Amino acid sequence: MGLIRLIILALVIWMLWRLVNNIKARLNGKEKSANQSDNKIEQSNMVSCHYCSVHTPEEDAIQHEQMWFCNTDHKEKYLEDNS
Ligand SMILES: [Zn+2]
Repeated sequence: MGLIRLIILALVIWMLWRLVNNIKARLNGKEKSANQSDNKIEQSNMVSCHYCSVHTPEEDAIQHEQMWFCNTDHKEKYLEDNS
C-alpha cells in the first residue's frame, strides 16, 4: 500500500509541476507579446522639434523642408529667428 501511495504522490507532484510549467510558459509568452507591442510604439516615428527639441510623433509634427517642429508656432518662431 505504501508503494502505491508513493507512486500516486509522485504522479500528483509531476502533474502539478507540468501545470506550473505550462502557466509559466503562457505568462512568458504574454510578456513577450506585450514587450513586442511596446517596441512597436517606440518604433513609431518620433521626430525632434528643431526649435525646442521636444519629441513628437511624426503624424502630429509639422515638417518644413528637412526640419520638424512640434507645432506651427515653433516653426514660425524658428523661421523668424533665422530669417
Ligand atoms: Zn517645439
